Amino acid sequence: NTGSYLFYASEMSDRLHENQQLVVALAEALSSDLFYLEYQPQVALCSGEVIGFEALARWQHPTLGNIPPDRFIALAEQEGLIVTLGDRVLQLACQQGCEWLEQGIEFQRLAVNVSVKQFVESDFASKVLNVLEQSGFPAEKLELEITESVFLGDLTLAKETMQKLTQQGVCFSIDDFGTGFSSLLYLKDLPVLKLKLDQGFIRGITQDNSSLQIVKASLQMGQALNMDVIVEGVETCDEYQMLLAMRCGHAQGYLFGRPMKPDLITAPRLRQISA
Ligand code: C2E
Ligand code: CA
Ligand code: CA
Ligand code: CA
Repeated sequence: NTGSYLFYASEMSDRLHENQQLVVALAEALSSDLFYLEYQPQVALCSGEVIGFEALARWQHPTLGNIPPDRFIALAEQEGLIVTLGDRVLQLACQQGCEWLEQGIEFQRLAVNVSVKQFVESDFASKVLNVLEQSGFPAEKLELEITESVFLGDLTLAKETMQKLTQQGVCFSIDDFGTGFSSLLYLKDLPVLKLKLDQGFIRGITQDNSSLQIVKASLQMGQALNMDVIVEGVETCDEYQMLLAMRCGHAQGYLFGRPMKPDLITAPRLRQISA
């Protein structure tokens, strides 16, 4: 049926056109520095105390509106712009971290997402150390979130990069743990401090037994391997109660705080979250 074929083709070309528009806009936004960061608190579950923040990239386009990071990060990766964007994100986060410390806002760690394409660049470690030096942000407060996809490539190289950075105090967490396709072997000899359990698992714990068992097993494994486990996407009191009963250590989610502009994070505000 030609009609539906035409319809399909024109819909596809709409999509293509929209994507091309977005690619151009992305490059422009990078050169005019239009990306900014929001920060989401991470808490110790039993006390509610804020232990750190995750920096999340944001893009508000003047006419296209708010573009979600899932979309523009994927596009930046596809178009070879993710390294430039990632560099900027790291700089912004470290600058913000310094400001907070100057204002007396205490936190253990500031977590920054790193795309696999950034991580595998040969100068990644030295770049990170440069940003730390230039901004004056303490290496011991920087956490880099990587995904399991990093371990599908050259493991020796990944280990080298991680060691260079951990020697200086930077730590690594595995984002979306359990959702990649890599084996768990990497956990044996790579310096991983933290596992971040994807919200897909948390969403199910009050409903289905398999999600619950997966979360339980991950918590046990983390404990056995001496790694912190942080659960992502905690939204309800029921989820919170269940995680507390499982002795889960750390959490991040709308229940404790949404990603927010950095000026909303003040010392009194932190006391409020933990109250
Ligand atoms: P992610 O790293 O897994 O980040 C967590 C996402 O879950 C964030 O979405 C956050 O807003 C959302 N979230 C947190 N708590 C809750 C909750 O309780 N309920 C629900 N429904 N969602 C919650 P966001 O900010 O839209 O980011 C999406 C993804 O974009 C991130 O997933 C990350 O993969 C990517 N991303 C964001 N910023 C960066 C960046 O600077 N660099 C890189 N490489 N990726 C980034
Ligand atoms: Ca993350
Ligand atoms: Ca995640
Ligand atoms: Ca995710």
